[in-house]
Amino acid sequence: MLMEETPCPVCDSQDFRVVFRLPDLAYNCPGIFVLVRCLECDALYQNPRPTAAEMETCYPSDYEPFTRDADRVGSRLQRLRLRPRCRQISRLARGGRLLDIGCANGLFLAEMRQYGDWEVFGVEPNPGAARYARDVLGLPISHQLKTADLEGSLDVVTMWDVIEHLHQPAETLTMVRQLLKPGGWLIVSTPNPASLDARLFRGHWKGLDVPRHTVVLDKRAMRRLLADSGFRLARVYSFYGRHTVFALSLQLWLKCRYPSIAKHPLTDRVLFLAVWRWLTLPFFLLVEALGYGSILTYVAQPEQPSSR
Ligand SMILES: [Zn+2]
Repeated sequence: MLMEETPCPVCDSQDFRVVFRLPDLAYNCPGIFVLVRCLECDALYQNPRPTAAEMETCYPSDYEPFTRDADRVGSRLQRLRLRPRCRQISRLARGGRLLDIGCANGLFLAEMRQYGDWEVFGVEPNPGAARYARDVLGLPISHQLKTADLEGSLDVVTMWDVIEHLHQPAETLTMVRQLLKPGGWLIVSTPNPASLDARLFRGHWKGLDVPRHTVVLDKRAMRRLLADSGFRLARVYSFYGRHTVFALSLQLWLKCRYPSIAKHPLTDRVLFLAVWRWLTLPFFLLVEALGYGSILTYVAQPEQPSSR
Protein backbone atom coordinates (compact mmCIF):
# COMPACT_ATOMS: atom_id res chain seq x y z
CA MET A 1 0.00 0.00 0.00
CA LEU A 2 1.38 3.42 -0.98
CA MET A 3 1.85 5.48 2.20
CA GLU A 4 2.77 9.12 2.82
CA GLU A 5 4.00 10.97 5.89
CA THR A 6 1.85 13.86 7.03
CA PRO A 7 1.89 16.71 9.52
CA CYS A 8 -1.13 16.98 11.82
CA PRO A 9 -4.21 17.45 9.58
CA VAL A 10 -5.72 19.83 12.16
CA CYS A 11 -2.88 22.17 13.20
CA ASP A 12 0.01 21.27 10.85
CA SER A 13 2.37 20.48 13.74
CA GLN A 14 5.02 17.81 13.16
CA ASP A 15 5.38 16.93 16.86
CA PHE A 16 3.72 13.67 17.80
CA ARG A 17 4.03 10.49 19.78
CA VAL A 18 3.06 7.01 18.59
CA VAL A 19 -0.05 5.67 20.35
CA PHE A 20 -1.16 2.55 18.42
CA ARG A 21 0.23 0.15 15.81
CA LEU A 22 -2.78 -1.75 14.50
CA PRO A 23 -3.86 -4.13 11.76
CA ASP A 24 -7.15 -3.59 9.89
CA LEU A 25 -9.34 -5.63 12.23
CA ALA A 26 -12.56 -5.15 10.30
CA TYR A 27 -11.66 -5.73 6.63
CA ASN A 28 -8.10 -7.12 6.69
CA CYS A 29 -6.36 -4.53 4.46
CA PRO A 30 -2.72 -5.65 4.51
CA GLY A 31 -0.22 -3.84 6.74
CA ILE A 32 0.21 -2.38 10.20
CA PHE A 33 -1.13 1.15 10.60
CA VAL A 34 0.33 3.70 13.00
CA LEU A 35 -1.82 6.17 14.91
CA VAL A 36 0.02 9.09 16.52
CA ARG A 37 -1.16 11.83 18.85
CA CYS A 38 -0.40 15.45 17.94
CA LEU A 39 1.41 17.09 20.85
CA GLU A 40 0.02 20.49 19.84
CA CYS A 41 -3.76 19.89 19.41
CA ASP A 42 -4.39 16.32 20.72
CA ALA A 43 -5.65 14.97 17.37
CA LEU A 44 -5.05 11.26 16.84
CA TYR A 45 -4.04 10.66 13.22
CA GLN A 46 -2.48 8.06 10.94
CA ASN A 47 1.16 8.78 10.18
CA PRO A 48 2.16 7.55 7.73
CA ARG A 49 -1.22 7.16 6.05
CA PRO A 50 -2.36 5.67 2.73
CA THR A 51 -2.20 8.26 -0.06
CA ALA A 52 -5.53 9.76 -1.14
CA ALA A 53 -5.57 7.56 -4.27
CA GLU A 54 -4.70 4.47 -2.23
CA MET A 55 -7.57 5.12 0.20
CA GLU A 56 -10.05 3.85 -2.42
CA THR A 57 -8.58 0.34 -2.02
CA CYS A 58 -9.25 0.47 1.74
CA TYR A 59 -13.03 0.29 1.21
CA PRO A 60 -14.01 -3.24 0.17
CA SER A 61 -17.16 -3.86 -1.86
CA ASP A 62 -18.91 -5.13 1.31
CA TYR A 63 -18.10 -1.98 3.35
CA GLU A 64 -21.24 -1.78 5.44
CA PRO A 65 -22.38 1.85 4.88
CA PHE A 66 -22.29 1.26 1.10
CA THR A 67 -24.32 -1.95 1.06
CA ARG A 68 -27.55 -0.88 2.76
CA ASP A 69 -30.47 -1.48 0.45
CA ALA A 70 -33.58 0.59 1.12
CA ASP A 71 -35.86 -2.33 0.20
CA ARG A 72 -34.43 -4.86 2.62
CA VAL A 73 -36.00 -5.32 6.06
CA GLY A 74 -32.63 -4.64 7.76
CA SER A 75 -32.40 -1.37 5.92
CA ARG A 76 -35.91 -0.37 6.87
CA LEU A 77 -34.69 -0.69 10.45
CA GLN A 78 -31.63 1.31 9.46
CA ARG A 79 -33.91 4.06 8.14
CA LEU A 80 -35.77 4.05 11.45
CA ARG A 81 -32.43 4.52 13.16
CA LEU A 82 -31.78 7.57 10.98
CA ARG A 83 -34.89 9.32 12.22
CA PRO A 84 -33.27 10.79 15.37
CA ARG A 85 -30.81 12.57 13.06
CA CYS A 86 -33.71 13.94 11.00
CA ARG A 87 -35.45 15.12 14.18
CA GLN A 88 -32.28 16.91 15.36
CA ILE A 89 -32.19 18.86 12.09
CA SER A 90 -35.90 19.64 12.16
CA ARG A 91 -35.30 21.40 15.47
CA LEU A 92 -32.75 23.70 13.82
CA ALA A 93 -34.76 24.52 10.68
CA ARG A 94 -38.14 23.58 9.22
CA GLY A 95 -36.85 23.25 5.68
CA GLY A 96 -34.45 24.63 3.09
CA ARG A 97 -31.43 23.31 1.24
CA LEU A 98 -29.46 20.52 2.85
CA LEU A 99 -26.20 18.91 1.71
CA ASP A 100 -24.98 15.60 3.17
CA ILE A 101 -21.25 15.08 2.62
CA GLY A 102 -20.30 11.40 2.49
CA CYS A 103 -23.93 10.42 2.01
CA ALA A 104 -23.11 6.75 1.17
CA ASN A 105 -26.19 5.27 -0.51
CA GLY A 106 -28.39 8.21 0.42
CA LEU A 107 -30.76 6.65 2.97
CA PHE A 108 -30.44 9.63 5.33
CA LEU A 109 -31.23 12.13 2.55
CA ALA A 110 -34.20 10.04 1.40
CA GLU A 111 -35.48 10.01 4.99
CA MET A 112 -34.89 13.75 5.38
CA ARG A 113 -37.28 14.48 2.50
CA GLN A 114 -40.06 13.13 4.75
CA TYR A 115 -39.21 15.72 7.42
CA GLY A 116 -40.36 19.00 6.00
CA ASP A 117 -39.73 21.08 2.93
CA TRP A 118 -36.14 20.03 2.23
CA GLU A 119 -34.27 20.23 -1.05
CA VAL A 120 -31.47 17.73 -0.54
CA PHE A 121 -28.07 17.14 -2.17
CA GLY A 122 -25.37 14.55 -1.55
CA VAL A 123 -21.64 14.11 -2.10
CA GLU A 124 -20.33 10.56 -2.31
CA PRO A 125 -17.00 9.46 -3.83
CA ASN A 126 -17.83 5.71 -3.81
CA PRO A 127 -19.27 4.98 -7.30
CA GLY A 128 -21.50 2.05 -6.24
CA ALA A 129 -23.06 3.86 -3.29
CA ALA A 130 -23.51 7.06 -5.34
CA ARG A 131 -25.18 5.10 -8.15
CA TYR A 132 -27.68 3.60 -5.70
CA ALA A 133 -28.49 7.01 -4.23
CA ARG A 134 -28.91 8.53 -7.69
CA ASP A 135 -30.65 5.72 -9.63
CA VAL A 136 -32.76 4.01 -6.96
CA LEU A 137 -33.53 6.88 -4.58
CA GLY A 138 -33.50 9.64 -7.22
CA LEU A 139 -31.14 11.91 -5.30
CA PRO A 140 -28.82 14.54 -6.83
CA ILE A 141 -25.35 13.22 -5.96
CA SER A 142 -21.92 14.67 -6.83
CA HIS A 143 -18.68 12.75 -6.81
CA GLN A 144 -16.77 15.60 -5.16
CA LEU A 145 -17.52 18.63 -3.04
CA LYS A 146 -17.75 21.62 -5.37
CA THR A 147 -18.46 25.16 -4.33
CA ALA A 148 -19.46 26.68 -7.68
CA ASP A 149 -23.18 25.80 -7.77
CA LEU A 150 -24.09 25.96 -4.11
CA GLU A 151 -22.05 28.85 -2.73
CA GLY A 152 -23.83 30.74 0.05
CA SER A 153 -27.08 28.85 -0.60
CA LEU A 154 -27.27 26.05 1.97
CA ASP A 155 -29.23 26.06 5.21
CA VAL A 156 -27.72 22.86 6.61
CA VAL A 157 -24.62 20.76 5.87
CA THR A 158 -24.33 17.37 7.55
CA MET A 159 -21.25 15.15 7.87
CA TRP A 160 -22.29 11.96 9.69
CA ASP A 161 -19.25 9.86 10.62
CA VAL A 162 -17.29 11.32 7.72
CA ILE A 163 -14.66 13.78 8.93
CA GLU A 164 -12.52 10.95 10.35
CA HIS A 165 -12.16 9.56 6.80
CA LEU A 166 -10.79 12.77 5.26
CA HIS A 167 -7.22 13.62 4.29
CA GLN A 168 -7.90 17.35 4.49
CA PRO A 169 -10.57 18.01 7.13
CA ALA A 170 -9.65 21.70 7.54
CA GLU A 171 -9.87 22.40 3.80
CA THR A 172 -13.22 20.60 3.59
CA LEU A 173 -14.72 22.59 6.47
CA THR A 174 -13.44 25.84 4.96
CA MET A 175 -15.26 24.94 1.71
CA VAL A 176 -18.40 24.08 3.69
CA ARG A 177 -18.16 27.49 5.34
CA GLN A 178 -18.46 29.08 1.87
CA LEU A 179 -21.49 26.97 0.99
CA LEU A 180 -23.56 27.88 4.03
CA LYS A 181 -25.85 30.87 4.26
CA PRO A 182 -25.16 33.27 7.13
CA GLY A 183 -26.95 31.65 10.07
CA GLY A 184 -26.79 28.20 8.43
CA TRP A 185 -25.91 25.07 10.38
CA LEU A 186 -23.07 22.57 10.18
CA ILE A 187 -23.57 19.20 11.87
CA VAL A 188 -20.48 17.00 12.23
CA SER A 189 -20.48 13.71 14.08
CA THR A 190 -17.34 11.72 14.77
CA PRO A 191 -16.10 8.96 17.13
CA ASN A 192 -15.17 10.23 20.58
CA PRO A 193 -11.69 9.05 21.63
CA ALA A 194 -12.52 10.02 25.23
CA SER A 195 -15.61 7.76 25.23
CA LEU A 196 -16.20 4.86 27.59
CA ASP A 197 -15.90 2.43 24.62
CA ALA A 198 -12.56 3.92 23.54
CA ARG A 199 -11.14 3.61 27.07
CA LEU A 200 -12.44 0.07 27.47
CA PHE A 201 -11.53 -1.40 24.07
CA ARG A 202 -8.40 0.69 23.29
CA GLY A 203 -6.84 -0.78 20.10
CA HIS A 204 -10.00 -2.78 19.39
CA TRP A 205 -12.26 0.27 19.57
CA LYS A 206 -14.38 0.54 16.39
CA GLY A 207 -13.81 4.32 16.31
CA LEU A 208 -10.16 3.80 15.28
CA ASP A 209 -11.03 1.70 12.18
CA VAL A 210 -7.63 1.99 10.46
CA PRO A 211 -6.80 2.48 7.64
CA ARG A 212 -10.19 4.06 6.77
CA HIS A 213 -10.11 6.54 9.66
CA THR A 214 -7.21 8.90 9.05
CA VAL A 215 -7.96 11.24 11.95
CA VAL A 216 -9.81 10.75 15.26
CA LEU A 217 -10.61 13.99 17.01
CA ASP A 218 -11.40 14.67 20.66
CA LYS A 219 -13.36 17.75 21.75
CA ARG A 220 -10.27 19.92 22.00
CA ALA A 221 -9.06 19.06 18.48
CA MET A 222 -12.57 19.45 17.01
CA ARG A 223 -13.03 22.85 18.65
CA ARG A 224 -9.77 23.99 17.13
CA LEU A 225 -10.61 22.58 13.70
CA LEU A 226 -14.01 24.31 13.69
CA ALA A 227 -12.61 27.64 14.90
CA ASP A 228 -9.75 27.57 12.37
CA SER A 229 -12.26 26.87 9.58
CA GLY A 230 -14.45 29.85 10.51
CA PHE A 231 -17.13 28.21 12.65
CA ARG A 232 -18.64 29.06 16.03
CA LEU A 233 -19.47 25.94 18.03
CA ALA A 234 -23.04 26.04 19.36
CA ARG A 235 -23.39 22.61 20.98
CA VAL A 236 -21.68 19.23 21.48
CA TYR A 237 -23.64 16.15 22.49
CA SER A 238 -24.22 12.43 21.85
CA PHE A 239 -27.48 10.97 20.66
CA TYR A 240 -26.71 7.83 18.63
CA GLY A 241 -24.18 5.01 18.39
CA ARG A 242 -24.70 3.54 21.85
CA HIS A 243 -25.12 -0.24 21.93
CA THR A 244 -24.32 -0.65 18.21
CA VAL A 245 -20.85 0.92 18.46
CA PHE A 246 -20.21 -0.98 21.72
CA ALA A 247 -21.18 -4.30 20.06
CA LEU A 248 -19.01 -3.54 16.99
CA SER A 249 -16.00 -2.98 19.26
CA LEU A 250 -16.80 -6.12 21.24
CA GLN A 251 -16.97 -8.02 17.93
CA LEU A 252 -13.44 -6.83 17.02
CA TRP A 253 -12.14 -7.70 20.48
CA LEU A 254 -13.58 -11.22 20.22
CA LYS A 255 -12.08 -11.60 16.74
CA CYS A 256 -8.60 -10.98 18.19
CA ARG A 257 -8.91 -12.75 21.53
CA TYR A 258 -11.38 -15.56 20.90
CA PRO A 259 -11.56 -16.09 17.12
CA SER A 260 -13.52 -19.34 17.36
CA ILE A 261 -16.27 -17.61 19.38
CA ALA A 262 -16.22 -14.61 17.00
CA LYS A 263 -16.66 -16.91 13.98
CA HIS A 264 -19.63 -18.77 15.45
CA PRO A 265 -22.80 -17.80 13.54
CA LEU A 266 -24.71 -17.24 16.78
CA THR A 267 -22.23 -14.69 18.14
CA ASP A 268 -23.22 -11.80 15.87
CA ARG A 269 -26.90 -12.60 16.29
CA VAL A 270 -26.55 -12.38 20.07
CA LEU A 271 -24.35 -9.25 19.98
CA PHE A 272 -26.77 -7.32 17.80
CA LEU A 273 -30.08 -8.49 19.28
CA ALA A 274 -32.47 -5.55 19.19
CA VAL A 275 -33.43 -6.17 22.81
CA TRP A 276 -29.94 -5.11 23.99
CA ARG A 277 -30.56 -1.69 22.52
CA TRP A 278 -33.52 -1.14 24.81
CA LEU A 279 -32.10 -2.87 27.89
CA THR A 280 -28.85 -0.89 27.75
CA LEU A 281 -30.47 2.44 26.84
CA PRO A 282 -30.58 3.88 30.42
CA PHE A 283 -26.94 2.98 30.91
CA PHE A 284 -25.84 4.64 27.64
CA LEU A 285 -27.97 7.72 28.34
CA LEU A 286 -26.09 8.12 31.63
CA VAL A 287 -22.75 7.59 29.85
CA GLU A 288 -23.71 10.27 27.31
CA ALA A 289 -24.83 12.70 30.01
CA LEU A 290 -21.37 12.38 31.56
CA GLY A 291 -19.74 13.21 28.20
CA TYR A 292 -18.44 9.69 27.47
CA GLY A 293 -20.73 8.83 24.52
CA SER A 294 -19.13 6.86 21.68
CA ILE A 295 -20.02 9.39 18.97
CA LEU A 296 -20.05 13.14 19.50
CA THR A 297 -22.13 15.46 17.36
CA TYR A 298 -20.93 19.05 16.92
CA VAL A 299 -23.44 21.71 15.88
CA ALA A 300 -21.80 24.87 14.57
CA GLN A 301 -22.56 28.03 12.61
CA PRO A 302 -20.41 30.18 10.35
CA GLU A 303 -18.65 32.86 12.36
CA GLN A 304 -19.93 36.22 11.22
CA PRO A 305 -17.25 38.67 10.09
CA SER A 306 -17.00 41.34 12.82
CA SER A 307 -18.47 44.64 11.65
CA ARG A 308 -16.31 47.73 12.17
ZN1 LIG B 1 -2.38 18.98 15.73
